Amino acid sequence: MGRGAEYVADVAASGLLGGGGRYTALCAERLGERLGSPLVLLTPSCSAALELSVLLAELGPGDEAIVPSFTHPATAAAVAKTGAIPVFADIAPETLGLDPSTVAAAVTDRTRAIMPTHYAGVACDMAGLSTLAERHRLAVIEDAAHGVFADLEGRPLGSLGDAGCFSFGQMKNVTCGEGGALAVNREDWVTRAEVLADRGTNRRAFERGEVPAYSWVDIGAAGAPGELVAAYLWGQLEVADQIVSARRAVWSMYHERLAQAEAAGTLRRPAVPEGRHLDGHIYYVLLPDRSERDRAITRLAEAGVQAAFHFVPLHSSAAGLRHGRTAGALEVTDDVAGRLLRLPIWPGLSEADVERVVGGLVDVARPQAGAARA
Ligand SMILES: *Cc1c(COP(=O)(O)O)cnc(C)c1O
Repeated sequence: MGRGAEYVADVAASGLLGGGGRYTALCAERLGERLGSPLVLLTPSCSAALELSVLLAELGPGDEAIVPSFTHPATAAAVAKTGAIPVFADIAPETLGLDPSTVAAAVTDRTRAIMPTHYAGVACDMAGLSTLAERHRLAVIEDAAHGVFADLEGRPLGSLGDAGCFSFGQMKNVTCGEGGALAVNREDWVTRAEVLADRGTNRRAFERGEVPAYSWVDIGAAGAPGELVAAYLWGQLEVADQIVSARRAVWSMYHERLAQAEAAGTLRRPAVPEGRHLDGHIYYVLLPDRSERDRAITRLAEAGVQAAFHFVPLHSSAAGLRHGRTAGALEVTDDVAGRLLRLPIWPGLSEADVERVVGGLVDVARPQAGAARA
């Protein structure tokens, strides 16, 4: 979908391949309008946006940041890279995002940030997390990789914390292969964010005529994609509404067709608590237990349907054990990670495809009285 290839050819013909050109500006402007953020920077990935965020929050050795264990490794890896400790807290069963009560129990004198992931674009309990953040003076950095076009009561995900991180990787709703964005939602972080993302220089201020020459002023990274990538991304952002509504339509088809299976106790469908508007990034179900889930994957694969699970919990992963600390028992994380199954979802998945997936799933998932979580 979209005119990305045309825009890439346009950039290639111009020879102006470096970042920061017309398409970069168009993408940042479009995202900025949606998010209402004082600054949006395109980044090479969501991982890069997370790495910039933890630098903005001034995380360093001896500090701690509270992260979910049920998330992409990038959320925790960004913390560990600064020498700070990712502290794994449990998720709430209603949102599959950080549970404020487990976060409260994880806070210490060394805590500097809370980094919620909005799983499947379902907003975490941001009111609860913000209250904690205010009480303990913590930064809030949102991993909104699943929720580029999702919101909480009309407020876009990624605009609710001090910074929001987005992914335009291959598997995401809007993609340029590898890409991301950082929304800086605090005015007092804007100048430093520009410097950190520009190899530690004040080149942007120089380009605006604010300083006579640009020089090295801080630590930093090569934090922007080139213009070919931005051009492709612009082609996608132009049609983002169509992409998202097509994905939402598939999401709704699954949801309707699986209602009966849920009523029969065969599986649990995603809960969407009040005020959450999703962008159709993920459709998942919770099977009664790990063996049912694994059996479903095998049987669906035999029927030519690729269904996958994630995330392998971070707190018990090799790097999690080496770099992190676990707060509490993480029972919901371990439970959900063992039972969750993602169903195929992309724009253009037909009703017949959905029927085939649902048929295969309902066929394998035998009812087990009382085993599915309410
Ligand atoms: C995909 C993803 C990331 C990493 O994004 P990249 O752009 O590949 O770096 C981070 N967090 C979550 C929740 C993701 O799904």
